[in-house]
Amino acid sequence: TFCTHGKCICPSLRNPISGLDVSGIILGIVVREYASLSHLHKQYFGFPGEILMRMLKLIILPLIISSMITGVAALDSEVSGKIGLRAVIYYFSTTIIAVILGIILVMTIKPGVSQEAEHIDRTGTTPNVTTVDTLLDLLRNMFPENLVQACFQQYKTKRKELETRIDLHRVSFWFRECFMFPLVTTDPLTSNITKDYKIIGSYSDGINVLGLIVFCVAFGLVIGKMGAKGRILLEFFDALNEATMKLVQIIMCYMPVGILFLIAAKIIEVEDWEIFRKMGLYMVTVLSGLAIHATICLPLIFFIIVRKNPFTFTLGMAQALVTALMISSSSATLPVTFRCAEENNRIDKRITRFVLPVGATINMDGTALYEAVAAIFIAQLNDFNLDVGQIVTISITATVASIGAAGVPNAGLVTMVIVLTAVGLPASDVTLIVAVDWLLDRFRTMINVLGDAYGAGIVQKLSKRELERMDLISDVDVANPF
Ligand code: ASP
Repeated sequence: TFCTHGKCICPSLRNPISGLDVSGIILGIVVREYASLSHLHKQYFGFPGEILMRMLKLIILPLIISSMITGVAALDSEVSGKIGLRAVIYYFSTTIIAVILGIILVMTIKPGVSQEAEHIDRTGTTPNVTTVDTLLDLLRNMFPENLVQACFQQYKTKRKELETRIDLHRVSFWFRECFMFPLVTTDPLTSNITKDYKIIGSYSDGINVLGLIVFCVAFGLVIGKMGAKGRILLEFFDALNEATMKLVQIIMCYMPVGILFLIAAKIIEVEDWEIFRKMGLYMVTVLSGLAIHATICLPLIFFIIVRKNPFTFTLGMAQALVTALMISSSSATLPVTFRCAEENNRIDKRITRFVLPVGATINMDGTALYEAVAAIFIAQLNDFNLDVGQIVTISITATVASIGAAGVPNAGLVTMVIVLTAVGLPASDVTLIVAVDWLLDRFRTMINVLGDAYGAGIVQKLSKRELERMDLISDVDVANPF
């Protein structure tokens, strides 16, 4: 299938689960069965997928800067304030709903009480990250020391912890998903040292989206108020945005190939399939919670407010959802989310530019649900009876932890430590669920992206009057500029 977007010939956005994606699974299984690849060969095999990831990450920076600045500058401050408030109310309420749903499911299914789960290895240490540390890092990220630095995550507290207190080797297990490919070297000593350096590096890896958003909102507001001079800057960022979206279009053409190899490489790489049998009930609980949230809760809210078919809307987002599933990162999925929301679901650019980047950073329903389920699962494994106060604490900290998590692979696993410590559970028990996190991460990221997209649709509906008024004003401006 080919699309007619612009002049390019690329696989259609409307037919996202192409044969190539399924072929990735088949290719992975065949190679796994019939060829025994060394680490190095596995790395070569996954190379086309690595290139896709790199391209998606590369485009995030210009995309966020140009879309946020033009988005905010195009709205007057009163309107952007209203839109922002609506978005935040939506984010907060859906996250709470997701957490409550997760708690109900885990208390009903009781996956941690099963015999099987008792055999899970409980050894390991974790960084001692508290709620205050996470909140401080969140605030640090919002106010970067300089603009160039805003392009990097700041994890001062966690870095210090890493450098001084933790067992780096075990944590490298946690973060293996952050490095899409196995290390080149096969010498165990060199390999561990290289890994440890990479883990430290991973804390400063990626873009500080929150810092950029804060800067771009402020900059956009100022430009919007500057009159004629500001318009020059606005035109510049608008052109930058258009050029960036054209690049996204090119990346989308490469997407099916990249995704094919991403899937195949992952299937080859997984070593312990047996763990899924052991952790079965826990995974079923998380996955059914995510499924209910995606097919009942979010669509219902969307239907009540927007009065349109939510499933057609979900279908329009399919390419973004598949991408999120494959790459476990809301931030890296952002370019695709933009295209699907604007082109397939026809959401106003003034809304998407403003709402989507913020949503990808702070609105994570899937992560919040997962954190609540995982914390209670760990409590059940420990025969730890939670009282009502502790369950409320879990819901609040799971919400905070999901806001604090960056839109990168396995971020939720790290911030989960604050949920555990808040109710007195051993933080080191995070290691119990590490082995299956690479899979759950993919599904929760998908729900995070879906939540952001529904949010944009809902905010657009609620802001219809303001948008129409703005259209009217700009028509008058064009007709009679003086
Ligand atoms: N990978 C998730 C995301 O990017 C965050 C997480 O839950 O780990 O949305």
